Amino acid sequence: MKLYTLGTGAPLHYTRATTGFLVEAAGEPLLIDTCGGFELVRRLKALGKTPEGFHHAVLTHRHGDHIGGVMALAIAANPLHLYGSADALQATKDLLTLTYGEAAFNVLEHVQFHPVEAGRAYDIAGYTLEFLEVVHRVPTLAVRLEHAGKVIAFSADTLPCDNAIEVAKHADLYLCDALCARADGASYIPRVKDLQHPIAAEAAQMAKEAGAKALALTHIARYGTAENMLKEAGDIFSGELSVPDDLHCFEL
Ligand SMILES: [Zn+2]
Ligand SMILES: [Zn+2]
Repeated sequence: MKLYTLGTGAPLHYTRATTGFLVEAAGEPLLIDTCGGFELVRRLKALGKTPEGFHHAVLTHRHGDHIGGVMALAIAANPLHLYGSADALQATKDLLTLTYGEAAFNVLEHVQFHPVEAGRAYDIAGYTLEFLEVVHRVPTLAVRLEHAGKVIAFSADTLPCDNAIEVAKHADLYLCDALCARADGASYIPRVKDLQHPIAAEAAQMAKEAGAKALALTHIARYGTAENMLKEAGDIFSGELSVPDDLHCFEL
């Protein structure tokens, strides 16, 4: 199984696209979040792919930096299956309606919305997915994906919480949001809390408690530096640790 990072930045990052991941195995490719908008197309093209080839996307929550790419997928991919909480799916529908106006009817015709609930497992595009509710400014689901004995977990956006540990129990790869390290500046810490994200040390502590084999820090703020984040997280988490750039490929 391969996981490509399409976007690893927070909304105001200057170079990283916002959150999106691509999972590939034998079956259909699956997107977990979709970046913030049409840059999804550029990211996919950089991997030699076009949006027409993607028919399944999981949406962790309604924030634009995660669902924006559906604007591109909905006019390229037919059919398009979207999975998420009722709240995330409603916001996505609203976004498509707003974006495409009178043409929205034609666009929405081939989009299928599949609500998922926390605490249940689903077979999506040939992968087994479980969702757990985490703590963010809006209803948000962390994702645990299993395929061929390998587990990838994604925290979505969340304050440190029990479910962000539970979702990553013994995961082969834990993608955890973290905006920055303490060493990037004490003045940023209250802001990170207010935005309801962990810092690198908190993500590392959750990965450690989960017994995850590898931790990848993502959703990096423009004031977050990989150097400081790796040092801070590495003092706590002894497994494989990275702050991947966009278009990085993890092989599991
Ligand atoms: Zn968010
Ligand atoms: Zn976000």
